[in-house]
Amino acid sequence: MTQFDHAYERLETNVVHAGRPRPNIEGAVVTPIFQSANYLQSDERDYGSVRYVRLSNSPNHHVLHARLAVLESAEAALVAASGMAAITSTLLAFAHAGDHVIAHDNLYGGMQNWFEHDGPQFGIACSRINGKSPDGWDAAVRPQSKILYLESITNPMMEVLDLEAAVRFAKKHNLISIIDNTFTTPVNFRPHEMGIDLVVHSATKYLNGHSDIAAGAVAGSRAHVSKVLHVLNHMGGSLDPHACFLLERGMKTLVLRVERQNASALELARALAAHPKVRKVNYPGLETDPGYELARRMFSGCGGMLSFYTHTAAQAERFIERLRIPLHAASLGSVESLVVRPARSSHLDMTAEARAKIGVTDELVRVSVGIESADELVADFKQALDAS
Ligand code: PLP
Repeated sequence: MTQFDHAYERLETNVVHAGRPRPNIEGAVVTPIFQSANYLQSDERDYGSVRYVRLSNSPNHHVLHARLAVLESAEAALVAASGMAAITSTLLAFAHAGDHVIAHDNLYGGMQNWFEHDGPQFGIACSRINGKSPDGWDAAVRPQSKILYLESITNPMMEVLDLEAAVRFAKKHNLISIIDNTFTTPVNFRPHEMGIDLVVHSATKYLNGHSDIAAGAVAGSRAHVSKVLHVLNHMGGSLDPHACFLLERGMKTLVLRVERQNASALELARALAAHPKVRKVNYPGLETDPGYELARRMFSGCGGMLSFYTHTAAQAERFIERLRIPLHAASLGSVESLVVRPARSSHLDMTAEARAKIGVTDELVRVSVGIESADELVADFKQALDAS
């Protein structure tokens, strides 16, 4: 039976080696792709030990589960077919018909929509809380409240919450706390160390980092993760072994990529803040940002995501047309820089009124900073703004 490598002290070593099969399978330096849906019967003890691809138990899954657990300082982890598969399986593991979820009022568009339309179809109600006023959170609690759902840095407003206050709030009301750590990544922040119960990711983004797969991840205690796995097994959201292989490969450069993106995004945010065609920049690494102090206290870097307002929607459109390096595309967290207007992509399903309430107006541009030369990126943004 293959054993999987233990944890090393430093994240830089763990992204490459933690969870590696020992001995290496057939001497292969890289985990081979186990493109087999099923396996010969051997020592099955329960349903979960039946070796079948939908049950997320191929060697490709095992390596990723062990590596992700180490990266998120958790006992256990699992991967899923997308971020949404990971998040919804986690929610459905801990909230059932009649239950209630408390969620931040500023989230990724897919989750905004899920809480508004899909959750209620499962009989799960949701109340939203304002991240800026923890004093008001108690009022959202009901006897049926089971989950607190947050994002480490919100998409696309780049808001940072007082997560220490959130952990205290969840413990006080006996809520399972779940955080989407996609924007910060374990390089900048490990929420489980702070007391958050479960950490979820769209691994489509930074963990993989190359815009070539959809994947998700969940990390937490063994007991919590096994409940999520049970739901994932039956909802059918397992990650294909070939995608596991690509995710494992992408994750090896996570630290290098994110450190570069932290530095480049800060440089770009500063340049944008000084440009007359920019009305406001949202980036918690800027000293003037409302999230600066919280981010400095909790994160070791602010990541590669930022957003900013031009003066008019037409100006935002012209700016995007004139950019030469970044691609005009949704999604984020990859090696190439991307720009998008959230009102025309991730938040398109919301009404204009609901978008305006959370600041997602037509002048808002979201940027995912890649690993290109920061100098060239800044120069490109400046020329596109000048011409907008
Ligand atoms: N969480 C965040 C912060 C996201 O930005 C996204 C997608 O854009 C998701 C979750 C959903 O992930 P996926 O598209 O991998 O299902």
